[in-house]
Amino acid sequence: MHNSLLFTIIELESGDHMFFHKEPVLYVVVPCYNEEEVLEETTRQLKAKMEQLIKSKQISGKSKVMYVNDGSKDKTWDIIQEIHKQEKLFTGITLSRNRGHQNALLGGLMTAKKYADVVISMDADLQDDINAIDEMILKYKDGCDIVYGVRSARKKDTFFKRVTAQGFYKFMKVLGVDCVYNHADYRLTSKRVLDEFENYKEVNLFLRGMFPLVGFKSDVVYYERKERFAGESKYPLKKMLNFAWDGITSFSVKPLRFICVLGFIILLFSIGIMIYSLVRYLTGNTVSGWTFLSISIWFIGGLQMISIGIIGEYVGKMYNETKQRPRYIIAENLEEK
Ligand code: UDP
Ligand code: MG
Repeated sequence: MHNSLLFTIIELESGDHMFFHKEPVLYVVVPCYNEEEVLEETTRQLKAKMEQLIKSKQISGKSKVMYVNDGSKDKTWDIIQEIHKQEKLFTGITLSRNRGHQNALLGGLMTAKKYADVVISMDADLQDDINAIDEMILKYKDGCDIVYGVRSARKKDTFFKRVTAQGFYKFMKVLGVDCVYNHADYRLTSKRVLDEFENYKEVNLFLRGMFPLVGFKSDVVYYERKERFAGESKYPLKKMLNFAWDGITSFSVKPLRFICVLGFIILLFSIGIMIYSLVRYLTGNTVSGWTFLSISIWFIGGLQMISIGIIGEYVGKMYNETKQRPRYIIAENLEEK
């Protein structure tokens, strides 16, 4: 008997081969931080979706939804345990403390791949349309190892979020980062991709930029992003800026190069100034240069400060990477109870 990812081929006594379509085991990984308000509704919707997929034989009956409790301070973990008790379709892991969305998601993906053929990650607030799952599965069966969920419209996002987010994706492109435009962390990945992904050991995680690095055949699925139906965003402006900054400095060394170019331009500029001041000196007009001088000192000082800061940023990143600390610690896994 030969076992491939999607087919089971059985050799009959007659020597003929029979192909059985093997439904893939799907795990949906959902990171949750203080999501007690949304879990019930999310569970209701995901349950309906999973049952529909299992019934129509698109996925195996062993498929599950895995909630990842990211050190929530509210009742999130109690609720997850309760749901798991009532519905075997739902399982969960809990991290030892809050580690942030990206680390929680990675912890979930790496755990889920032990049980699944294919994993889909999504947010707990169901802002990403769960009906896109069907199409993702179809593309997976078509031979895609990664399927990116892409937001076709952001009508429901606030103006501010829309402008900053889209500006960010464009900026990343300018910096040469291979990011799928308007794709967040709603994505399907095959076990094969996740196995390879395990070798990416960095601690400054920016998952949406890292998955394209793995390669394999990929495709996109479009959906409309909805409003968060309950609770508040767990990504306040500060976290968003941090995340964007991580995305840039973890994926592009262009800011460093930019500093070099800037330094060079300023050097050329100062040669001009030198000639200018010399001429002023020779023509006997030196007193009026004071304003100009003080401005230059401040300007160059600030510029140098920024430059050192950016270099420091990268040194700091290296410092964190060399420590090789674990990116998440799983305190409990309901799957192994
Ligand atoms: N999240 C998490 N840990 C955190 C912050 C957020 O696991 O420290 C989860 C959160 O529960 C949600 C997802 O990450 O499932 C995305 O967060 P949110 O919906 O608040 O972000 P937004 O959609 O506003 O960008
Ligand atoms: Mg959200």
